[in-house]
Amino acid sequence: MILVSACLLGHRVKYDGGTNTHDLIMQYHERGQFLAICPECFALLPVPRPPMELCHVTGAALLVGKGKAVDRNGLDTTEYLIAGAQKVLKIAETYEIRTAILKESSPSCGVHVVHTGDFDGRKQPGMGVAAALLTAHGIRVYSEEDLTQALLEQLLREDAAARRPS
Ligand code: SF4
Repeated sequence: MILVSACLLGHRVKYDGGTNTHDLIMQYHERGQFLAICPECFALLPVPRPPMELCHVTGAALLVGKGKAVDRNGLDTTEYLIAGAQKVLKIAETYEIRTAILKESSPSCGVHVVHTGDFDGRKQPGMGVAAALLTAHGIRVYSEEDLTQALLEQLLREDAAARRPS
């Protein structure tokens, strides 16, 4: 199985109640190789919810106790993001997941960039908290923006081969 951010698979779990449905990923959904995850829902945050950002830190830094995350109202949401990431890791370990495709820029799922914490649209290099935790445990993490049809088909082939009985 390949972990995929639930919002990319059309689940209405985004902070504003919407989705980030990704047409290419959806073309392969019926193969049954995607496992939808939403770290922020797993942390029992509601939908909709105020948007959250990492405050001039990366997800990796947050995991070692540096800095914080806040929502647009100024509420410290650090513990929610860490709790959600830990639940995603637990699922990944349970299902022996090797690969994840996560939503770019999210404070949980971002792979290459995350917002800066100023709620002004600017981004900084770095992973979200769940992406960083999965990476630290040896799971390959891709952004939906990395995907080409060839790469996605390769990831699906590798996943199928890994599950084939020897
Ligand atoms: S936490 Fe991840 S899966 Fe959930 S809505 Fe945000 S980007 Fe999508």
